[in-house]
Order: sequence, then structure tokens, then C-alpha cells
Amino acid sequence: MPEADKAPRIIAITNQKGGVGKTTTAINLAAALVERECKVLLVDMDPQGNASTGLGIMSDQRDRSTYDVLMNDMSVADAVHQTDLDGLSLIPATTDLSSADIDLAKAVDRSQKLRKAFSPLSQKDWDYILIDCPPSLNLLTVNAMVAANSVLIPLQSEFFALEGLSQLMLSIREVRQTANPDLRIEGVLLTMFDKRNNLSQQVEEDARDNLGEIVFQTRIPRNIRVSESPSYSMPVLTYDTASQGAVAYRALAKELLNRAEAV
Ligand code: ADP
Ligand code: MG
Repeated sequence: MPEADKAPRIIAITNQKGGVGKTTTAINLAAALVERECKVLLVDMDPQGNASTGLGIMSDQRDRSTYDVLMNDMSVADAVHQTDLDGLSLIPATTDLSSADIDLAKAVDRSQKLRKAFSPLSQKDWDYILIDCPPSLNLLTVNAMVAANSVLIPLQSEFFALEGLSQLMLSIREVRQTANPDLRIEGVLLTMFDKRNNLSQQVEEDARDNLGEIVFQTRIPRNIRVSESPSYSMPVLTYDTASQGAVAYRALAKELLNRAEAV
């Protein structure tokens, strides 16, 4: 089968905890894949819309959004916005997405909406689709996991990092049993890592002991440039291309592409 006829690889970036680096990873992994000549679509599934803002698509520009795809049968092609970065498209999130969770509950195909919307797409359109999930295991997250080939789980290198992970794993198992038996775990990513901090090292040790090979070798360091970049509407890769954060997200993209070849 020629490459172009293959479906895009779809990765849901998820963890029901807030503030662990989901959105940061969605934006910067997307940018790093674009640097490697991949065409990438980022789908903002969080009503807070941080990924949209971080890529410079402001609220007043969001006339078409993830809400329309889920609730108004809008096609992905119609909902897409072009970002400033060549090769990176975005479907932004609006605040009304928070009500989609409740509205979806009434639909018979409530967990299949996103999967159906993605079904006409091929690698002619995008090589990768990254979904930035909300900090919850609600129907929005379930839609993302049902539509995805894999989940990428950011883990903040902090106390209690692994807490809640078993609940997330349970949700993944449930999705596998009901709607998406092929859902894989792409990997667990240590974020905001501080190598001078014993706690970070302890979290890494625990994660590698408990989760084994699914933990990415790449760790994302805590880096001020990473947290500054969204206010300039840029991924850290373009905001400060030589920063530790940019280097780390490039390493993550490389590791992910190498793993994909190995599968
Ligand atoms: P989530 O999407 O899981 O809620 P975010 O990606 O929004 O998490 O990150 C939470 C906060 O931590 C944000 O203010 C972000 O700028 C900051 N942050 C994330 N990753 C890093 C990092 N590697 N270094 C420094 N700050 C970071
Ligand atoms: Mg977020």
C-alpha cells in the first residue's frame, strides 16, 4: 500500500491530572515532528484551549473548533486552521467544549464521534495527529482514546506523580475492551525533570521500576524557556531553538519515530 493511503498515526496525549505537561508536550512534540518533515495536525480537546493560544490561534479566531467536529458533524478538513508553523495545522478548542461532555452523553455514538471524523483521513493529509486531552477521564478523553492508535502519558517528576496512573490504565483497558482493541501505550514521558533534585530521580526510578520499557529514555527538563514560549505564541523549538527544552523535545520526536519503525 503506498504511504499516502495509510491512515495517519494518531496519538492521544493524556493524564487526568492537570499541570503535568500535556499541552506543552502536544505543542512541542508537534513542532519537533514538523522539523522532521512530518505533516502534523494538533487537535485541542481541552476547553481551556491552551494549545490553541500557545500556537497563536486566539479566541476571536476560533470560528471553527473541536466542538463543531464533535457536535455539529463538521469535517476535520473544514475545522482546520493553519498555524504560523508550516506543516502544523490545528483544530482549536473553545469554552463551549466543556458542555460537549454533557451533550455527548445523550448520543448513541458518544464515544465514536472523533474516530468517525478522522476516518476519511490519510497520510496524504497528515502523518501524525496529536490530541491534547483535558485533565479528566471524561467523554472527551474517551473520544480521544477511541480515535487514537496510542496514548502518550506525561508524568510530572513530582511527588505523587504515579498516583492516579492505575486509574488511567484502567480507562485504557476499558477502551480496549469496548471500542478500540488495538490501542497501544506509546510511552510514559517524564516532564519537568530536575536532575539536581532527588525527588525527580526518585520518581524516575519508581517509574522505570514499575512501568519498565514504556517509559521513554528521553526526559523533558524543567526549563524556563519552555514555560515562556506560549506567551509568544511559539513552540520552544522556534522561540529558543537551542534551549534545553527544545533539544529534549527533538530527542523525544527521534525516539518516537525510531520506536514506530521498530513496531
Ligand atoms: P497540562 O496540559 O498537563 O495541564 P501544561 O503543559 O499546561 O500541563 O503545563 C503546566 C505548566 O507547567 C505550564 O505553565 C507550563 O508552561 C509549565 N511547564 C510544562 N513543561 C515545562 C517544562 N519542561 N519546563 C518548565 N515549565 C514547564
Ligand atoms: Mg493542558
